[in-house]
Amino acid sequence: MTMRDVEASSRAPVRRVVIAGGGTAGWMAAAALSKVLGRAIEVTLVESEEIGTVGVGEATIPTLVTFHRLLEIDEQAFMSAVQGTIKLGISFENWLEPGHRYIHSFGTSGRDHWSAGFQHFWLRGRELGIASGYEDYCVELLAGLEDRFAHLPRNGINYAYHMDAAHYARFLREFSARHGARRVEGKIVEVRTDAASGDITALRLENGDEIEGDLFIDCTGFRALLIGRTLNVGYDDWSHWLFNDSALATQTTAVRDAVPYTRAIAGGAGWQWRIPLQHRVGNGIVYSSRYMADDEAKHAFLSSLEGEVMRDPWPIRFRPGQRQKAWHKNCVALGLAGSFVEPLESTTIHLIQRGILHLVKAFPQTITAVAVDEYNARLAEELQHVRDFVVMHYHLTRRDDTPYWRAITQMEIPPTLRHRIELFRETGSVFHVPGELFGENSWIQVMMGQGVVPKRYHPTADVMAPEDLTRFLDDIRTYVRTTADQLPAHMDYMRRYAPAP
Ligand code: FAD
Repeated sequence: MTMRDVEASSRAPVRRVVIAGGGTAGWMAAAALSKVLGRAIEVTLVESEEIGTVGVGEATIPTLVTFHRLLEIDEQAFMSAVQGTIKLGISFENWLEPGHRYIHSFGTSGRDHWSAGFQHFWLRGRELGIASGYEDYCVELLAGLEDRFAHLPRNGINYAYHMDAAHYARFLREFSARHGARRVEGKIVEVRTDAASGDITALRLENGDEIEGDLFIDCTGFRALLIGRTLNVGYDDWSHWLFNDSALATQTTAVRDAVPYTRAIAGGAGWQWRIPLQHRVGNGIVYSSRYMADDEAKHAFLSSLEGEVMRDPWPIRFRPGQRQKAWHKNCVALGLAGSFVEPLESTTIHLIQRGILHLVKAFPQTITAVAVDEYNARLAEELQHVRDFVVMHYHLTRRDDTPYWRAITQMEIPPTLRHRIELFRETGSVFHVPGELFGENSWIQVMMGQGVVPKRYHPTADVMAPEDLTRFLDDIRTYVRTTADQLPAHMDYMRRYAPAP
C-alpha cells in the first residue's frame, strides 16, 4: 500500500457535505448536490450575511441553460425571479481599434461539410464576391444585432441569461431547501483540521457552533478560507497574461429596453461591461491598477454611465489565476476560491458548474487520491482553454493608443494559444478539444472579429462550382433572414414570457 492508499482507506465514507459560503458558487453546489444526491448525503451550507457576496456575476453562457435542465428548474419561474433577460452573445466594442465592433454570438454560422467548416466556404465566397457579412449566416448573430428573440422549436436558438445575482442566490437557496439542504447563518472563525491527516474536520462559527463534515466545499470567494488560508494550496498567477486586477461595479436604472447581448466596451486601461436586466442595468469597469489609478477609473466609469446610479460603486480587487489543485485532501474549491479568469467572456459561473458536474460524477463513497488527481486534471485543462480564449481578445488588438495597450501588444502569449491563432491564420481551420467550453464557432467569430484573415481555405470549398456555392450560401442566408424575421422584439417577448414579479 502506498501512502496515498493509506490516506484514502483511513477516511470515513462521505455522508456529510459542508459548503462554506453562500454566493453563486455555494448555492449552485447546494442545489445540484441536494437535488441529485439528496437522500444519500446531508448538505449543509454556511453563509454570513455580514460578510455578503462579491455582488457581481450577472452574465452567463448557454451551459447554464443545460445546468438548469439537468436540475429540472422551471425556466419561466427562474427568469421571473432573477428579472432575467436573454443573452445571445457579447458585443465587443473598441477591441480591435476604437470605433470597431463585432459580436461573439452563441450561434453556429452556416453549415459545415464533414471535411471542412463553413468558414472555408464563406472565405471562398468572399473571394468570388458572392458572400455577404459573416453575421448573415448565423441566426443568433443577426437576432442579437436586431434585438430580437423567441424560443424556436425547430433547430432551436442558442442563448444564455442575464440575471440579478442576488436574486439568483435566493432562488437557488429556496430550491436547495426544498431538496433538503440545510442553511446555517454564521461567520466562520476557524477551520479545524485533523493533526494526522491534515483533513478538515469542522468549521467553527463565531457563536461557538461547530459544523462537522466528511467533504468540504470551499465557496468563500476570494478569501479561499479553506483551500487557501487553511490547506495552503498555492495559486498560479496569470497576471502576466491578464493585466487587469481591479473592478468597480454598480447598478443603474434602465433607460431603454434591454438588448439581448452583453456589452464589453474597451477603454484606455481595461474595459466596461453593461448587463441589461428587466428592471436595471449591471455596470462595471475592469482595469489594471498598474495603468490606471482608482480615482481615475471611478471618474471614467461614473461619467460614462446612463440612467440613475442605484448604488455607490463598490471596488473589487482580484488576481487572475488558478489554485494549483481545485481539490485537495477533503476540500474542493468552487468559484472564486478556486480560480478567476477575468470576467470578459462570463466564464466563472460556467466553471463553477463544470466543477459541480465533475464532482457529482466522481462523487466519492470515500475520497481516493486517484479520483482527486483526475478531477484536478480535468478542471485544469478546461480552465487553460478558457484562459487562452480570454487572452486572445487582448492579444489580437491593433490598439496602441495608451501605455496599457502598448504593453499588451508586447506580451508573450501561451504557446497553446499561439498555435491556435497560427493554425487559423495559415489554414482557416480551428479545432475543438473534447470538454473545452468554446466551440469552433466561438474561436472563429472572435478571431475574425479581431481582424485575423486566414491566408487559405480548405480545397473542399473549390470542389463546389461557383453557382452551387452561390446557391449554398444564399440558402443559408435566406434561412437566417426568414428565421430572424419571425422573431419578436426581445423585451416584448420577455415581458410575456417571464414578467418581473
Ligand atoms: P462570493 O460571491 O464572494 O461568495 C462568497 C461567500 O462566502 C459569501 O456568501 C460570503 O458571505 C461567504 N463567506 C466568506 N467568508 C466567510 C466566513 N468567514 N464565514 C461565513 N461565510 C463566509 N462570472 C460570470 O459567470 N459572469 C460574469 O458576468 C461575471 N462578472 C464578474 C465581474 C467581476 C468584477 C468579478 C470579480 C467576477 C465576475 N464573475 C462573473 C465571477 C462571479 O462573480 C462569480 O462566479 C460568482 O459571483 C461566484 O462567486 P463566489 O460564490 O465564488 O463568491
